[in-house]
Amino acid sequence: MEERTFLCENIGVNGEGHLTFAGQDTVQLAARYGTPLYLMDEDRVRDRCRVYADAFRDLFPAGSRPLYASKASAFREIFRIMAEEGMGIDVVSAGEIHTAVTAGFDMSRAFFHSNNKTDEDIRYAMDCGVGFFVADNEEEILALEAEAARRGTVQKVLLRLTPGIDPHTYEAVDTGRVDSKFGAAIETGQAEAFTAMTLRQEHIRLEGFHCHVGSMVFWEDVYERAAAVMLRFMADVRDRYGYTAGILDLGGGYGVRYVDADGHLDIREKLKELSASIRETCRQLSFPAPAILMEPGRSIVADAGMTLYTCGTVKKIPGYKNYVSVDGGMTDNPRFALYGSKYTVYAAGKMNEDTPLRCTVAGRCCESGDVIQENVPMPADVGRGDIIAVCTTGAYNYSMASNYNRIPRPPVVMLRQGESRIAVRRETLEDLTALDV
Ligand SMILES: *Cc1c(COP(=O)(O)O)cnc(C)c1O
Repeated sequence: MEERTFLCENIGVNGEGHLTFAGQDTVQLAARYGTPLYLMDEDRVRDRCRVYADAFRDLFPAGSRPLYASKASAFREIFRIMAEEGMGIDVVSAGEIHTAVTAGFDMSRAFFHSNNKTDEDIRYAMDCGVGFFVADNEEEILALEAEAARRGTVQKVLLRLTPGIDPHTYEAVDTGRVDSKFGAAIETGQAEAFTAMTLRQEHIRLEGFHCHVGSMVFWEDVYERAAAVMLRFMADVRDRYGYTAGILDLGGGYGVRYVDADGHLDIREKLKELSASIRETCRQLSFPAPAILMEPGRSIVADAGMTLYTCGTVKKIPGYKNYVSVDGGMTDNPRFALYGSKYTVYAAGKMNEDTPLRCTVAGRCCESGDVIQENVPMPADVGRGDIIAVCTTGAYNYSMASNYNRIPRPPVVMLRQGESRIAVRRETLEDLTALDV
């Protein structure tokens, strides 16, 4: 039989024709833990962290480091792993902060984002010792100044700017443009005014600038272009205000492989190109090379994840469509419903069978848009009880899960070196009514 290749090196097929993930039999894992089930390949998560951490240490100035973007997947075990791997984190809510704090994460390495931090968020984050606020707007700076003054402290901040870069990716995940709801635009002069008013505050220390140009970046030179715009701005600020920023945070966004047609990205190679480009821009501007931060989320956890379901009803509508319905859906993975996101789907126990049946893999929710994927090749005899696997679900699945239709959220099981363990337990029916009076 010819060698089959899969999306990621942690996917394979064993002698029984079962799909394997991180070297473990997914049909057995489904039997042991039940479905729907999120699997997380811990070795892959750690490997991705090391690719970033090593590259940042080798290629960028001292003080540079990758920050894991918690919104991709946030639960305590992930934060413990990030702590052990020496990562910083970016957090966007009191809930993410609370999760990281209770996992024992050193919050001095946390960067607090969000375009609308409430006064309560600000107080909670300061109580928890969050190292940096990534301030989005002038109102936030005033609120931070007031709270820091009340406490008699000085709060470190980065300012979120929009460099006006269009990453040529999906509209919905495109945030670096001038008309974004995030940050202050360089082009309109608002970024400069934002900087000037921040520098006037007594209880705020401006450490540098942040931008985030989008998601699913593959080949484009968007980081190089964004860095060039940001560095030019930083040089202008130095010339006009005598303030030299020491940090440039370029946000997240490297792409991952959801389907075979997606490319392979060599992150270290990309970072090498970026570092050379930044060095050259700094030389041209006579600007001292700042510490570089990046906030990878998806590229740390996406291909470390897989979701297992059990097939229920199979409905064939002659001349139209075939539906394979699974015991989860938009409640555990809303990304097809939201963005039409692509995924690779398998019948995990029938990996050596031909796949002549084109199917829509649908969920169990009362919503016709509740689809996991269209045009999925399935074995002719796919049916009730078969395990259905969806690859590359480590990012923006568990973290976007809901209880729509009062469906309990699946557990997260970590896989490491042949062992498996529960990191997040399955929600129970009692959990669902726990808040009801
Ligand atoms: C979403 C986001 C990230 C992470 O993006 P990925 O595509 O998951 O790498 C990083 N920084 C900011 C500000 C974000 O909004």
